[in-house]
Amino acid sequence: MPHYDHSCEKCKKDFVVEMKISEVDKKKVKCPECGSVKVSRNVTNNSFTSESVNRYVWDKS
Ligand SMILES: [Zn+2]
Repeated sequence: MPHYDHSCEKCKKDFVVEMKISEVDKKKVKCPECGSVKVSRNVTNNSFTSESVNRYVWDKS
């Protein structure tokens, strides 16, 4: 399962969330520190665009 780096825009905490690629756009990620939903997401493996995420899924299957 891929890991997604997040950083809270409110308290600036960085945290990692593990989730399925299919969940990424549905899941509301909350900051574990302050509970804010204003978080920005960075995928750990360099710079994934949604296109390359799809390719990654194909490669694994
Ligand atoms: Zn926060």
